[in-house]
Amino acid sequence: MTDRNDTLFERARAVIPGGVNSPVRAFKAVGGTPRFIQRAQGAYFWDANDKRYIDYIGSWGPMILGHGHPAVVEAVQKAVLEGFSYGAPTEREIELAEAILALVPSMEMVRLVSSGTEAAMSALRLARGATGRKYIIKFEGCYHGHADALLVKAGSGLATFGNPTSAGVPPEVVQHTLVLEYNNLAQLEEAFALHGHELACLMIEAIAGNMNFVRATPAFAKRCRELCTQHGALLVFDEVMTGFRVGLHGAQGVLGITPDLTVLGKVIGGGMPLAAFGGPRAIMEQLAPLGPVYQAGTLSGNPVATACGLATLKEIAKPGFYEALGAKTQSLVAGLKSAAAAEGIPFSADSEGGMFGFFLFDQLPQNYAKVMTTDNAKFNTVFHGLLDRGVYIAPALYEAGFVSAAHSEEDIAATIEAARQVFKSL
Ligand code: PLP
Repeated sequence: MTDRNDTLFERARAVIPGGVNSPVRAFKAVGGTPRFIQRAQGAYFWDANDKRYIDYIGSWGPMILGHGHPAVVEAVQKAVLEGFSYGAPTEREIELAEAILALVPSMEMVRLVSSGTEAAMSALRLARGATGRKYIIKFEGCYHGHADALLVKAGSGLATFGNPTSAGVPPEVVQHTLVLEYNNLAQLEEAFALHGHELACLMIEAIAGNMNFVRATPAFAKRCRELCTQHGALLVFDEVMTGFRVGLHGAQGVLGITPDLTVLGKVIGGGMPLAAFGGPRAIMEQLAPLGPVYQAGTLSGNPVATACGLATLKEIAKPGFYEALGAKTQSLVAGLKSAAAAEGIPFSADSEGGMFGFFLFDQLPQNYAKVMTTDNAKFNTVFHGLLDRGVYIAPALYEAGFVSAAHSEEDIAATIEAARQVFKSL
């Protein structure tokens, strides 16, 4: 039988670089042909051969309700009939802004944009504009989208700043970006001692989902807050992934830390292109048209995307939503752990709300360097073993996983059984 995924991949590669519109989709890390998805419903999607998968990427985070939730579909259908985009303000933008602010108390004002990249890039510009400072701190393994100044990895020492991780980013553009090791308190102290007075902001994924799933320790997160306050730098929580995913109040709620600026995306759009950044009124009023920091977007606050986001937020704010989601994710993680233990596989796993990660190590890693020592071949065997058995996890070992409200106990049990079979074969 011809594999339609193969046929489509060949066709795609002729017209789209690498056959994909975002690199990790290409299965380059794990090998094989990416699955071309034709439809999705609830916890599942179906590829071009009509094979069904239990979906643990959920569009890389947004689909917290599962695919095609009836209330969301209805809201989007209604919005589409009213018009796709106006380029003029709408009441729905206010409603979404109010809904976000009600759930994220650190934010007094919010600006809507279309992607996490755009939100992080704009928050960075705002932090620099509001403080009048140039330098920023980011952490190795945290991803904040692909704005030039954030595509950077650690240099040889704290004094040298980082190196671009992409061609096309001149070293001059990242010369004010200081890249530190996640959870390394000594390095954090040293960086602030050296550069604190010239830092505009420290940007962090406080529960990181782009080096698999790694938490900032409570002490580390607390010290980030204290040092920023002490030195007049803004603390920026990138909650594009964790916002409304690890809990109703994001990673800041889990950690009990109030950032200055918050960057949101994914869940707030419910699967449509929508992201946001926000913070205290005095900082947000630095943005155009009120202030000198320019920021704009043709499709920002799009009426269909805001309808989708608003309907999604209404569902997740219902009492008990995160308790149920968290318990389900924990049962998945516990089941995977015991399946691995039964087969004598070194394994560790963690979760918060509907986000999880697992590692082929005995202990949970604390930083990117450790995550990247994962045995690639072994991870790839696990990935393809699960894929063959109809379980779709992220096709790279440095990505987190996502459970939705639509995953049933049977889905979780089937996933654990598939993992048990794969672990046995290792
Ligand atoms: N920030 C974080 C923490 C992310 O996980 C991502 C995307 O995965 C981004 C920013 C960029 O968002 P987008 O892909 O919507 O541009």
